[in-house]
Amino acid sequence: MSEQNDNQQKLDFVRQIVADDCQSGKWDGRVVTRFPPEPNGYLHIGHAKSICLNFGIASEFGGKCHLRFDDTNPEKEEQEYVDSIIEDVKWLGWDWGQNLFFGSDYFQQMYDWAVELIKKGKAYVCDLTGEEIRQTRGTPTQPGKDSPYRNRSVDENLDLFEKMRKGEFPDGSKTLRAKIDMASPNFNLRDPVMYRIVHASHHRTADNWCIYPMYDWAHGLEDSIEKITHSICTLEFENHRPLYDWFLDQLGIYHPQQIEFARLNLTYTVMSKRKLLKLVQEKLVAGWDDPRMPTIGGMRRRGFSPSAIRNFCDKISVNKFNSTIDFALLQHCLREDLNKTSPRVMAVLNPVKVVIENYPEDKVEYLDAINNPEDPTAGSRQIPFSREIYIERDDFMEDAPKKFFRLTPGREVRLRYAYFIICTSVIKDPAGNITEIHCTYDPATKGGDAPDGRKVKSTLHWVCAKNAIDAEARMYEHLFTKENPDDVEEGKDFTAYLNPNSLNVLSNCKVEPYLKDVKSLSRWQFERLGYFCVDTDSKDGKLIFNRTATLRDEWAKIQQNSK
Ligand code: ATP
Ligand code: MG
Repeated sequence: MSEQNDNQQKLDFVRQIVADDCQSGKWDGRVVTRFPPEPNGYLHIGHAKSICLNFGIASEFGGKCHLRFDDTNPEKEEQEYVDSIIEDVKWLGWDWGQNLFFGSDYFQQMYDWAVELIKKGKAYVCDLTGEEIRQTRGTPTQPGKDSPYRNRSVDENLDLFEKMRKGEFPDGSKTLRAKIDMASPNFNLRDPVMYRIVHASHHRTADNWCIYPMYDWAHGLEDSIEKITHSICTLEFENHRPLYDWFLDQLGIYHPQQIEFARLNLTYTVMSKRKLLKLVQEKLVAGWDDPRMPTIGGMRRRGFSPSAIRNFCDKISVNKFNSTIDFALLQHCLREDLNKTSPRVMAVLNPVKVVIENYPEDKVEYLDAINNPEDPTAGSRQIPFSREIYIERDDFMEDAPKKFFRLTPGREVRLRYAYFIICTSVIKDPAGNITEIHCTYDPATKGGDAPDGRKVKSTLHWVCAKNAIDAEARMYEHLFTKENPDDVEEGKDFTAYLNPNSLNVLSNCKVEPYLKDVKSLSRWQFERLGYFCVDTDSKDGKLIFNRTATLRDEWAKIQQNSK
């Protein structure tokens, strides 16, 4: 998007709030946002939306965006996740500078503030079990029941809370609850739990703590400590906002503004970390970075570029209404980027040998090939040509219908950058499979044009058999067969909709010698076949490519049809 377009574009509602605040001087002109992942899984494309929003706003308004790990739940969190999140945010192209924070670094301050609320008579230690708390919460039409421990004295509460902290009680035997209103129409205000007892080792604080703060209590405090101005979160937190505000108001501390936007949903994908974890743990995919996963790591390995993901996030913008974005739009953004940036080369995925009978046996000649017609700076390369080449099995038919314009006995076609050839005969094995196609070529058509002006109806890609490199291509389809795999029929689980054909491995591919020393994760367009990326498992002796996307732009088609 050009800068001019950018400026003309209407601001989304979050940016509008930030712009208005800058204008009015509400935060003394400061803009401080944060991206606060819980390190309990890998980041996915939904997180990318939040990352681009928070870091994007900070960079557009001359502010800062913090990367903060909301690590308040020791049972599910791991250093592995912290590392992968850092890698992914960096890879997307964002920079938090010095502003890397951990919620767990604030545990003492949070504890002190909890003590303050107890002293104010705004929090109490409750002996109800989790189940009992749920049962006494009431319903939307009925108020909850006050806990029998609600009116403990401040001194008793202080004493019990300290003992909780010291580890004198077993897991789940007590909680600290905010004393708000069991009759509030907002469930979140019905004396929510602030602390629970969990004797578990934390990835940063080890065994220093055995009480851990709940999300709603911790999150606003973290924002306050870091002097965040705009605390941007997803819509599910809209009715948590009164609680966010209540805690900060009771403590009388710095108070950021919480703003909610609609989370990203994508067709043919699940995005809940719990579900993604299940796919990994049950080995239904090859890992968090399986190229079929909607994780940033999976998309990187699949061949997505950071700019394609960022453009996608720009395009979908942010609003207040939940909706589902068509996966084809994501791929459209990907193709727009790859078309300009990935060099074009020739590869044959399902090869059959072509023998050019009138071409000299030992000769190899080198022909000019353009690297990327979309990019004049990409230059050209030389590709070898000889008597034996490979073409795609699908590009030949022995008994072809009239409409089949590719190679068939007697029909002349063009070999890209090379010559016109005509098929003269085929050779088969005893089972009737074609093993070789015999052709003749016209030396006068070198480069792919006939001096007499005669035309051919199709151009085939090919690879020289003498110099071809063996490769594997992993062809991907949607991971799920259902547009919304979260919408499960009774008695089923989302995994029932996994696509059995989501991975198809072609292990007998041939690619041109130019690809000999390709770098891991480099992106290519295989002419006529699609975009491919070198897999991280690819090794010298065994090149592996992941198909990033086909060439067909489904999104453009959908747009066309809806006109
Ligand atoms: P969980 O499923 O465990 O609740 P989460 O997906 O909300 O996790 P967090 O680590 O809490 O994960 O998310 C970090 C940030 O990313 C949060 O601010 C959250 O609102 C945002 N986020 C998560 N999923 C999406 C999504 N699909 N679209 C936009 N933002 C998202
Ligand atoms: Mg969350």
